[in-house]
Amino acid sequence: MSCADHDDDLPPAGGLHGGGAPVLAEDGKIAVPEEVAEAIRTLIRWSGDDPAREGLLDTPRRVARAWREYCQGYGEDPAVHLVRQFEEVGGYDEIVLLKDIPFQSHCEHHMAPITGKASIAYLPKDRVVGISKLARVLHGYARRLQIQERLTAEVAQCIWDNLQPEGVAVVIEAQHGCMTGRGVRTPGVGMVTSRMMGSFLSDPRSRKEVLSLMGY
Ligand SMILES: [Zn+2]
Repeated sequence: MSCADHDDDLPPAGGLHGGGAPVLAEDGKIAVPEEVAEAIRTLIRWSGDDPAREGLLDTPRRVARAWREYCQGYGEDPAVHLVRQFEEVGGYDEIVLLKDIPFQSHCEHHMAPITGKASIAYLPKDRVVGISKLARVLHGYARRLQIQERLTAEVAQCIWDNLQPEGVAVVIEAQHGCMTGRGVRTPGVGMVTSRMMGSFLSDPRSRKEVLSLMGY
């Protein structure tokens, strides 16, 4: 299966400027405005290839649809995933951790892929959320043009604001395509960012405990 076969099951997304109501073509896929396709043809030419050669004919439409998927986060408010909360926590007042969540994002400087893993933890006060919701919050912010530092801070802040826990800790470890595939070309080098809030910020023992649970 080549990568060209993958574009049939994309979720719908909006029109030319994103985020709006889905505009679908007759084949049920997202309609790609000619202006967008032409921009990608221009980029292909700029890269040194011929957008009119057979293998590249459908590429602009595929690229356009792929980018709507990479940037799906613009169409959602990640906080919605934290609306459903459970107050019956059975006296549990220890760290809740979702560890090594794989994610993909794109850097806002080169639109190159950022691939990595995140560990997200909180210390509940009196409420918890379904554990998978933490990953949904991450993806909601990751599926945008990002820098890793802001992604880390936004995920932590969203949990802090909406769950109002005793503490939040987010650690993200990622590789940046703009470093591994161009420029200084340093494959294998990961960047680590972290954001500690509440008790994980003020209490060194809590911070040490959560980092150790995360494997750091
Ligand atoms: Zn970059």
